[in-house]
Amino acid sequence: MTSLAKFVKQWALDEGFALAGIAPSTPLRELEYFPAWIDAGFHGEMDYLARTNEVGKLRRAALENVAPWARSVVVCATNYNSDAPYSTQESDRSRGWISRYAFVEADYHDLLLKRLRRVEQRMVEHVVSEGRPAPRTWCYVDTGPVVERVLAQHSGVGWTGKNACILNQKLGSWLFLGVILSEYALPPDLPAADCCGSCTRCLDACPTQAFIAPRELDATRCISYLTIEKRTAVPEELRGNMGRHLFGCDICQDVCPWNRRAPVSHDPAFAARLELVNPPLEWIAGLTPEEFRKLFHNSPIKRAKLSGILRNAAIAMGNSGDRKFLPHLRNLENHENPAVAEHARWSIAKLEMMPDADPNT
Ligand code: SF4
Ligand code: SF4
Repeated sequence: MTSLAKFVKQWALDEGFALAGIAPSTPLRELEYFPAWIDAGFHGEMDYLARTNEVGKLRRAALENVAPWARSVVVCATNYNSDAPYSTQESDRSRGWISRYAFVEADYHDLLLKRLRRVEQRMVEHVVSEGRPAPRTWCYVDTGPVVERVLAQHSGVGWTGKNACILNQKLGSWLFLGVILSEYALPPDLPAADCCGSCTRCLDACPTQAFIAPRELDATRCISYLTIEKRTAVPEELRGNMGRHLFGCDICQDVCPWNRRAPVSHDPAFAARLELVNPPLEWIAGLTPEEFRKLFHNSPIKRAKLSGILRNAAIAMGNSGDRKFLPHLRNLENHENPAVAEHARWSIAKLEMMPDADPNT
């Protein structure tokens, strides 16, 4: 099994993953917080996180609750960092911000799943070629009932930073994770050491104070959740602190010292789509359904739907403090989607209350 583990990690690198490691399937203490976190409602409208198995146990609270047959987990990580500025380096409030993982060329789910499945296939073929029965395996990229970052920590791929992201000393935190659950007990790697030290930059920089504690997030306050997952109205007390975010938020990663020298990926799939880096708000606010489909058909951004992006653009225009957006907001005020219309009205009121607002604009 030791040589198979070595082979599997090499095959992952052959497929373009930057890192690979093996995590154990035993209960992990980092998941002990999960039931109380769900009970407290910190997952908001992400009901899938609260799904239970046939005996009522939270699926994500332990690997045995979802795949009791699994004996080890192969964790693979891809560097998606592109040659584009960080959100904290840009201050033009008339432009919006799309999260780094979403302004690249490829939709990582499909791409990485294909690569992961090739690793899985080689693993199964290798076992069968040695005269053993084909092992049971499952592959996931972001969509499985497992907490990938905890598995990544135990595979040695990286440690969980205080910003709740996986960090690697060489690559930083711009990492997509994929996992292969395996029936075979491949020998686990050593967990990664925590290198956050006394730093608290990420916790201090969060504009909506979304961290309950280091590594523990109240998702209902996080801009990533608010701009992508939240389908109903964004609480008014949070809108002002959402800044110009259109889809996701990178602030707690942008400020991390480990990302200062994070290398850029050479994979063309993760090259930045320049039109999506810091896009003008009026362009996004004027997108038609057809333009939205064309622009984002191969992008994670489609998850937010056009109505979600327009709602977020309305908030961002209100937060810009720039009255030039009033005509765009008045268009959105009449939008057929009530959430878009209501958030546009909120922003109009905000801009009109500004001391130098011209009522005739
Ligand atoms: S993604 Fe943004 S809002 Fe969410 S915790 Fe990080 S800094 Fe805060
Ligand atoms: S900003 Fe500091 S505390 Fe936060 S994840 Fe990075 S090193 Fe850790």
